Order: sequence, then C-alpha cells, then structure tokens
Amino acid sequence: MEINMAVDEALKSELSKAGIFTTTIEDIYNWGRKSSIWPLQFGLACCAIEMIATAASRFDLARFGAEVFRPSPRQADLMIVAGTVTKKMTPQVVRLYNQMPEPKYVIAMGACAISGGPFKQGYNVLKGIDRFIPVDVHIPGCPPRPEALLHALMTLQRKIDSQRSIGKPEAVTNRAYNDRSEEYLIPRFGEHDLVPTHNPLVFHPTAIKRTE
Ligand code: SF4
Repeated sequence: MEINMAVDEALKSELSKAGIFTTTIEDIYNWGRKSSIWPLQFGLACCAIEMIATAASRFDLARFGAEVFRPSPRQADLMIVAGTVTKKMTPQVVRLYNQMPEPKYVIAMGACAISGGPFKQGYNVLKGIDRFIPVDVHIPGCPPRPEALLHALMTLQRKIDSQRSIGKPEAVTNRAYNDRSEEYLIPRFGEHDLVPTHNPLVFHPTAIKRTE
C-alpha cells in the first residue's frame, strides 16, 4: 500500500495562520542537505579563480551554506569541476569523485569543463567531464562569473529539495546500496587516447544524422 507522505499545502497554510507549523521529516532532511553543501576544494584552471572569488567576501558563498570547502573527498558532497580537464587529469578527477560519499553532486563550471571550450580541438583536452561522471548542473561561459556559480548552486539546491531522501528504493541516500554501489570507471592512457574515451553508462551523446 502506498502512503502519501505529503502534507496538504492548503491545510498547511490554514494551520500557519493559527501559529501552527507543520512539516515532514523529508522536508527537514532536504532543507539540511541543501543548506550545508560541502564542495571539494580543488580547481583545474582559470575558472577556479572565479570559484575562489565566489567564496570570498564580495559574493559570499557562505550565504547559501556552501562555504565549507573540504580538502578531502571523503568529507565533500559537491564536486565543482572548475576549469580545463586535460586527459592527463581525467583519471584523477574520476578517482576523486569515486572517493566522495553518496549522495554527491557535480557542477561542471565553464566551457572547458562542459565541452573542452576554447581548447576543444586540442589533442590533450577532454571534451566534457560528463563523459565520465554524471553532471547535475552545467554552467556555460568562459569564464562564468561568480553570479553564474551562485545560480548553479541554487539550481542544485532546488534539485536536492525535490529528491526523496528517506524510504526505499528511490531515496538518494540509498543509492550507495542500490544501483550506484559500483565505482565509476577510471580511464587509462592508451596508445592515442584515453581508454575508453567515455563511460557508456554515463555519456549518451545525441546521434548526429548527416544528410547528403
Ligand atoms: S572556460 Fe575559459 S576561463 Fe574557464 S578554464 Fe576554460 S579557458 Fe579558462
């Protein structure tokens, strides 16, 4: 039997007029999760300067509860891929992602992280980190301004708020025990490129149809 755990919004509103506030464990849990995101402290190139500026006093990432950058992936739940991902660096980025505990999230910041950016044609540059790890929010721009990172963080917070965090089997906190238990594939260097060039479980490019 399915139990509807949602509290009726009209009832909530009526009760609040009488000074009675109602909520659910899930709402409180998600509010806590979205208000205390701990990003992993690492940067890859120029976009990282904008990320650092976002955490400084003028833009003040702390207002959104995400100022506690952690130097260890074991303590982080958000990876901000800020900058050019070279093929040499890709295995390390995926390894760091694997070491983060669930539930975890990824923001790909800047043209380089989402597509290779101005270095797309470079033999040494990965054409988007979403070839190897799942990306929750993409930020275009070269570089994106701190406001764009703040917007991405708010977008991620909305996503976290809409997720089920308790119950089985869909709850994100249960993913480590269900379909997400395996580690993501770490590529190795082949003769000409990374092997494999992408993780087929993560990367699903749109098929290009060429007309004559
Ligand atoms: S997107 Fe532009 S600013 Fe960001 S890492 Fe690439 S080249 Fe640098």
